[in-house]
Amino acid sequence: CRNLVVVTGDQLNLDSALWEGFDPQQDVVVLAEVPAEATEVWSHRARIAVFLSAMRHFALTLAARGWPVWYLALGRHAYPDLTSVWTAALARYQPQQVRALSMGDWRVEQTLIHTCAAQGVAVQWLEDDHFLCSRADFARWAKGKRQWLMEGFYREMRKRTGYLMLGNQPIGGAWNFDAENRQAFGKQGPGLRPPLPVFTPDAITQEVLALVAREFPQHPGSLDHFNWPVTPAQAALALDDFIQHRLVDFGRYQDAMWTDEPFLYHSLLAVPLNLKLLSPKQVLDAAQAAYERGVADLAATEGFIRQILGWREFIRGVYWQSMPALDEANHFDHQHPLPDWYWTGQTQMQCLRQSIGQTLQHGYAHHIQRLMVTGNFALLAGILPSAVSAWYRAVYVDAVAWVEMPNTLGMALYANGGRFTTKPYIASGAYIKRMSNYCGGCRYRPEQKTGPQACPFTTFYWDFLNRHQSRLQGNPRMGLMLKNLERLSAAERAEITACAADYRARLNEL
Ligand code: FAD
Ligand code: SF4
Repeated sequence: CRNLVVVTGDQLNLDSALWEGFDPQQDVVVLAEVPAEATEVWSHRARIAVFLSAMRHFALTLAARGWPVWYLALGRHAYPDLTSVWTAALARYQPQQVRALSMGDWRVEQTLIHTCAAQGVAVQWLEDDHFLCSRADFARWAKGKRQWLMEGFYREMRKRTGYLMLGNQPIGGAWNFDAENRQAFGKQGPGLRPPLPVFTPDAITQEVLALVAREFPQHPGSLDHFNWPVTPAQAALALDDFIQHRLVDFGRYQDAMWTDEPFLYHSLLAVPLNLKLLSPKQVLDAAQAAYERGVADLAATEGFIRQILGWREFIRGVYWQSMPALDEANHFDHQHPLPDWYWTGQTQMQCLRQSIGQTLQHGYAHHIQRLMVTGNFALLAGILPSAVSAWYRAVYVDAVAWVEMPNTLGMALYANGGRFTTKPYIASGAYIKRMSNYCGGCRYRPEQKTGPQACPFTTFYWDFLNRHQSRLQGNPRMGLMLKNLERLSAAERAEITACAADYRARLNEL
C-alpha cells in the first residue's frame, strides 16, 4: 500500500490530520488490541474495557466509510505486543511509508520509531491537532524558563485563543477567581444533583465487558458500574449533561470531597477527551457558550476553562519536555513500597478508604482525591515514586502516560524537584477535615500528631517537614510551614519521629 496509517487506542479522533488525503484505494489503517498494553502497563478492568469498546466502535465507523482497516481483536490473534503487530503489518502491506500522529506515550512512540527503523520504512509524523498547543509551541514557550508555571502559560493560551477575553483583556478584569472557587460543602453536604447520564452498554460494549472479565480476572477494579461514553455521540451527550447540570457549581466545589459521593460536580470528561472522542475546542466552546447564555457565572466558567485550556495543555507540554528523565525522577529519594491497601481500599483511614474504594469501583476519583489524599499520603509516607505512578496509571480509566506521569511524579510527588510547581503539595489531616466529612467516620483524629489515634497524614506531615527541613529551607513558599515546625520542642519532634517510624514500619496495617 501507499500509507500504513497507525492509530493507537487514545487517538480515536475522526477529524484528525491523519485522515487528510486518506485514499481507501491505496491506504490501510492498522489498529490493534494487544495483551501487553493491559498487562505490562497493569490496568483496571474498566480502563481496559473503555479502550477496547471505544476502539471497536471507532474501527466500525471507519469501515462504514469503506476504508480498509486491519483490526486485531484481543483473543483472535497471537501478537503479544505493539512491536509484533506493527512488524507484521509492515510485512503484510509493504507500505511506502507509515503515517502516524504524535503519540500520548513516549514509550509507544519509541516503539513505532524503532519498529519502522528496523524494517527500513519511513514514518511521516503529524502533530496531534486535538491539542490547542503543539509540542513545538510549548517547547518555544518553555525555552529558557527556569520554572514552568501554569498561570503564565494559561494567560498566553487565553490571549491566543480568545476564550473569555475582551480584546487583550480577560472578561471580568481578572484571570483568576479562586477566591470564589474551591469551597467546602459545609455540614449540609453537597445537596441533590440530577443523576448522571446512563450509557447503557450496547452489544459491542457487552461483548468487551465479557471478554475483559474472562481474560483479566486477576486485574484490579470492578466492571459492574461501567458507565463511560465510548463513541463521539455519547461523549457529546456527556458534555451537554455537564454543561447543563454541573458547570454552574464546578468551580465552587471542585476541591470538596464527601463520603459516598464519587462524582460531585465534576465533568467526567477526561475519559472521552483522552481517547479523543471529544475535542478540547468542543468543550471550551460549550463552556463559553454556557457563560454567554447565563447558564453559569464567570467564576464557574473560568474555573473550568482553566482546567482544559490551562492545566490539560500545560501538562501535555511538560510531559514532552520532561521525557524520558521523568520516569526515574525521585527528588526526595523515597524508597518505601506501595502499601497493599492501595490495591484493595482496605485501610482504616477513611479518606483513603473512600478515595481508593471509589477508584476500584469506578476507575475514577477527582483531582483533589488524587492530589491531596492518595498522592499526598504517598509523598508524606515516602513511597517510591515509580511505584506510585504505576498505580495511578493502572487504576484510573482516564490514565494515559502524558497526563498521568507529570501529574503524579511532578505535581503530587514533587519527584522532579519542582520543575513546574513552586512547592510540594503537602497537607496534614486538617486540610482533609476542612474539605470533606471523611474524618468524622475515621478511627484517627486529624488534629493529633502523636499517640494511638494520631492521624497518619498529620504525623507524616510533621515528620516530612522535619526530615526534609534543610532541603525545603531555601523555598520561600515553605516559610510558614517551617516556622510552625520551629515552634515544636525537641521532645515533640522526637515523638513525631518515633510515631512516624512506627507507622512507616506497619503501613499495611494503618
Ligand atoms: P474535572 O474535575 O471535571 O476537570 C475538567 C477537566 O480538566 C478534566 O477532564 C481534565 O481533562 C482537565 N484537567 C483538570 N486538571 C488537570 C490536570 N492536572 N492535568 C490534566 N488535565 C486536567 N488526568 C487524566 O486525564 N489522566 C490521568 O491519568 C490523571 N492522573 C492524575 C494523577 C494525579 C496524581 C493527579 C493529581 C491528577 C491526575 N489527573 C489525571 C488530573 C485530574 O485529576 C483528572 O483529569 C480529573 O480528576 C479527571 O476527572 P474529570 O474529568 O471529572 O475532571
Ligand atoms: Fe484521613 Fe486523618 Fe481524617 Fe482519618 S483523620 S479521614 S486518616 S485525614
